[in-house]
Amino acid sequence: SVAISVAAGLALTGACGGVGGGGGEGGGDSLTVGVLLPGGGASRFGQFDRPLIEQKLKQLCPDCPAATVAATPEPAVQRQQLEAMITRGVDVLIIAVVDAKGLRSTVEAAHRAGIPVVAYDRLAQGPISGYVTFDGATVGRLQGEGLLKAMGTKANGGQIVMMNGATPDPNADWYKQGALSALKDKVKIGKSYDTVGWRPENAYVNMTGAIAALGAGNIDGVLAANDSLAGAVVSAFNAAEVRPLPPITGQDADLPAVRRIVRGDQYMTVYKPFKPAADAAVEMAVALGRGETVGSIATGTVDSVTAKDIPAVLLPSISVTVGNIKNTLVKDGMYTIDQICTAK
Ligand code: BGC
Repeated sequence: SVAISVAAGLALTGACGGVGGGGGEGGGDSLTVGVLLPGGGASRFGQFDRPLIEQKLKQLCPDCPAATVAATPEPAVQRQQLEAMITRGVDVLIIAVVDAKGLRSTVEAAHRAGIPVVAYDRLAQGPISGYVTFDGATVGRLQGEGLLKAMGTKANGGQIVMMNGATPDPNADWYKQGALSALKDKVKIGKSYDTVGWRPENAYVNMTGAIAALGAGNIDGVLAANDSLAGAVVSAFNAAEVRPLPPITGQDADLPAVRRIVRGDQYMTVYKPFKPAADAAVEMAVALGRGETVGSIATGTVDSVTAKDIPAVLLPSISVTVGNIKNTLVKDGMYTIDQICTAK
């Protein structure tokens, strides 16, 4: 809550100043928040989440050193980054895992070292203290429902291709199950691919294969799990000179996708306002860094495959089609009309 944030901010201004004296048991004079994110600058994590996390930390703890941030799409590199942060002795961690299972033993090591972990967007395995994300079942259901709506008469008995996320990311299955809850018994799933590392290049290869195997005329829709996969799907159709495109879904409201929606090359995206997520994760991290619990920040609990009753914030998301771009993305200040309409 706001009151808690403010209280934390005030307390930390003193605690983080480092003007001699004191220092908490675990953290010394300052509170260092280690942040680990998947992918680099072009992904939503680099472009949106990272600066939002840094801003919120600055607001809650103006005198704290900036968060130490690491980003990579490689599971092995992320493990090394996490090990380095444990060695360095950060006070608290915010982690969006590349590979939930693969990172588990290192999350356990952080726990043993007394460093609380907040899972961000993706549910990390192992002993974590809090979790902030968007409800993945809702994200997938919005995609599935959107696709059916766009398919019109083909929504009954038509054939689709599913381009899912990367399986080491637990969100991939969460989205897929959410989508299937809307699609099952309605359409035929001609092909369903798990994408390696959420990589568009891999989705492009898979979509090219689906077009060859099924025939473009027999693909009535594509459930693409996010906008970068959707972009690759569009490229594969373009390379095969398929027109008109079948309806294609997405997620993240990234700018190229919003432009595709305006052009009619993509039907919808799922808009997840990243700021409330970043804010809640930093609030949790700061509370944990001060030795407090996160119960008052959480809105519920979730279970992972390794832990039960994890305090969690599950945020809602919004389906965006050409008709409500202005009332959502533009109104919230994510993009200006100029940005969307200036062709790149
Ligand atoms: C996130 C999506 C993102 C994807 C690829 C998922 O875990 O929830 O927003 O598009 O990873 O980075």
